[in-house]
Amino acid sequence: MNDVPAYIADRKSLLNDLEHFIAAHKADGKKLAIVLININHFRKINIAYGYTAGDLLLHQFSARLKKLSREEDYIARMGSSEFVLVLPNILNEGHVRLAANKLLGCLDEPFDLKTCRHKANADMGVSLYPDHAEDIQGLFQKAEIALMDARSGIQEFAIYAERTEEVEINSWDIEVELENAQDSDEFELYFQPQVNLQTGEMFGAEALIRWNNSERGFVRPDIFIPVAEQTGQIHSITWWTINAALRLLKEWPETVPPMKVAVNISTKVLMDPALVESVRSALSIWGTHYHQLTLEITESALMEDMSTSFIALDELKSLGLNISIDDFGTGYSSMAYFKYIPADELKIDRSFICYMLENAMDQHIVKTVTEMAHGFNLKVVAEGIENKETYDALKGLDVDIAQGYYLARPMPHDEFLKWLSEYQSE
Ligand code: C2E
Ligand code: CA
Ligand code: CA
Repeated sequence: MNDVPAYIADRKSLLNDLEHFIAAHKADGKKLAIVLININHFRKINIAYGYTAGDLLLHQFSARLKKLSREEDYIARMGSSEFVLVLPNILNEGHVRLAANKLLGCLDEPFDLKTCRHKANADMGVSLYPDHAEDIQGLFQKAEIALMDARSGIQEFAIYAERTEEVEINSWDIEVELENAQDSDEFELYFQPQVNLQTGEMFGAEALIRWNNSERGFVRPDIFIPVAEQTGQIHSITWWTINAALRLLKEWPETVPPMKVAVNISTKVLMDPALVESVRSALSIWGTHYHQLTLEITESALMEDMSTSFIALDELKSLGLNISIDDFGTGYSSMAYFKYIPADELKIDRSFICYMLENAMDQHIVKTVTEMAHGFNLKVVAEGIENKETYDALKGLDVDIAQGYYLARPMPHDEFLKWLSEYQSE
């Protein structure tokens, strides 16, 4: 069997050390992720290019994994092309999803195998302690099932709990259907209100895309957006979204200050050199003020390529647009870059808001992030507010803007206008 660097543990040490990890996490009630990574077609590499090439690939792969993981993460090798990462102190599924995304970055560049350059790919299956199992065997079983799902799925990784939906969606050719969706008017924008938490005044709304497919019915954006990102269809979808949002914004009542509409921008689109010009031309077509449009970019998207995305954001911000960092707090990074973020607001991820009344740690995070953000002149948005108690608590923590089912669910534009006039007459 090919060998790997010494900092990669073997199966025996892994099983031994995992006992300790689990015991420690049991004691302090934290989550632990088991990530199985399998390099696809590894045997073929050994056969086609020889064992030296296989060794080179494993060494480079190990080094990249090591570089992308945190200091406390643990890396081991299970089989010829199968690795295991143990990620301690995981906050929630969002956290592990971002970690997985980041770790998959180790495959972005081809491997230099001396006689050739090889672009490898891998699948990743994840299970969480204690959510999916509490013992080693159970955790591995669940991670293996997730790995199988990833193998047959559109995404390179799967978390155990997500499997039913992923399997179902595989049998359907989203890509082809997406192509028709735009021509046949199957997309619609829904709007979810945002209000100023301190004064109760309207602040604006987030535009969220909906796809009503003629055969499948309603398809959730978190199912088709990742596909659109992979196929490149996300660009035309985003241009449609921005234009639809600005067109509908014209029908909103005038307020002082004017309300803002927020649209979601994915990494691919942020990195598109045409973005600035497309936004500029949409604003000019609809005669919208720059400060009425907010672009939401997820923290994980920023992290993928910080220097390029910061340059793009700086340019957009200097035009006068608002930049919002979405899903903030799930980023797999330190807060060290906080003060450099070219943004106007931070949108704290809803996983922190949902349970903050019961979970002191979440509440503490919301409080700390809000204080830090204010220190850097950033506004703070809390999304996922589902009840009055949470709304009041966030007001007490000085959070600026509220969004969530407690105020209203995302709704079609005409309903949003009705909701707005009722809200304003209260
Ligand atoms: P997101 O940007 O984080 O959007 C917020 C999601 O949280 C929305 O899900 C919204 O319906 C949901 N939400 C709002 N308030 C609450 C609440 O109080 N409780 C709970 N449990 N959920 C709440 P939705 O509309 O299904 O969108 C899912 C994701 O799809 C969005 O997450 C965004 O990442 C993506 N997405 C939606 N529209 C677009 C789009 O036009 N372009 C791009 N690139 N992505 C989009
Ligand atoms: Ca968003
Ligand atoms: Ca969000």
